[in-house]
Amino acid sequence: MRRVVASAPAKVNLHFGVGPLLADGYHSVSSLYQALDLREEVGIRTSQTDEWSIGVTGSITPEQIALVPTDDTNLVVKAALLAARLADFKQLRPLEFDIVKRIPVAGGMAGGSADAAAALLAAANKFNLEMSRDELERVAVELGADVPFALHGGTALGTGRGEELRRLNLATELHFVMISADAGLKTPSVYGRLDAQREQVGFDPRAIEEPQVPSELIAALEAGDVDRIATLIHNDLEPAALELMPELELTIAAAHHFGALRAFVSGSGPTIAALATDADQANELAQRLRDANFVATQAATTKRGAELLGE
Ligand code: ATP
Repeated sequence: MRRVVASAPAKVNLHFGVGPLLADGYHSVSSLYQALDLREEVGIRTSQTDEWSIGVTGSITPEQIALVPTDDTNLVVKAALLAARLADFKQLRPLEFDIVKRIPVAGGMAGGSADAAAALLAAANKFNLEMSRDELERVAVELGADVPFALHGGTALGTGRGEELRRLNLATELHFVMISADAGLKTPSVYGRLDAQREQVGFDPRAIEEPQVPSELIAALEAGDVDRIATLIHNDLEPAALELMPELELTIAAAHHFGALRAFVSGSGPTIAALATDADQANELAQRLRDANFVATQAATTKRGAELLGE
């Protein structure tokens, strides 16, 4: 049976603005997404038995692998079912998925979304779905707000719930060290804490202004000015993530101490992203963090989105 494999990138948000809480429970956001060269792979083949199955391997720890669901709540299953529906399949034989994970689970780097994007691309190919990449990105939002970007890759401005994308041109490569935490943070609880914090200081979370990515940051990215990018990075979710996991303050302080230009919470956390001046400094920073017992992974920016890897 034909096995199709695809890969998709992790992301970091260089700006994340959280706007009003909407009636459906989501928030409108303004996101500056950046793809990283840390990639997930998803293989799909038709099962030889009557069972659906999901195998998970990869460079993350066994404890992290155990957090990945192996039932139909896994986003790879939802992605394959979406592709089958779009291909107008009346009947679908059980599928076998193998996921190679390198992105920390529940780490704020959209690992699940990367798996969904890779699975959607692989399934679209396996089922001979005739859809352009743009069309696929449009339907991918059904799987989650970050999935269109995981297909898209590169640098992009995301509005709406994050899924309305405008491509930007990053003029230089950026080098990060991503520092994992022992435990995960559930994205809805981080948003919930931010709403509570806003209420505490007298703001109505439903009446917050629509957020915008500052034009200064976009200009710094398009000019490749790393120092300026470092000063302009911003994440509205950071205070909420830090309140839920105060030990992250220590991680941020350690990254600064060891030479990071800027350390910040990635997405909803708890992964901390530390921006370095260049590849060599990122290498040194990662080493110093590991010597201090942090789990640190180097990651550089990439233009690559989801890609078919063959059969
Ligand atoms: P985001 O940054 O998009 O909010 P995240 O990086 O914090 O997400 P993920 O690793 O994407 O977190 O996963 C969050 C939850 O989604 C997991 O705890 C898990 O229950 C569920 N999940 C569903 N499918 C997957 C998958 N393929 N890989 C990992 N988690 C998955």
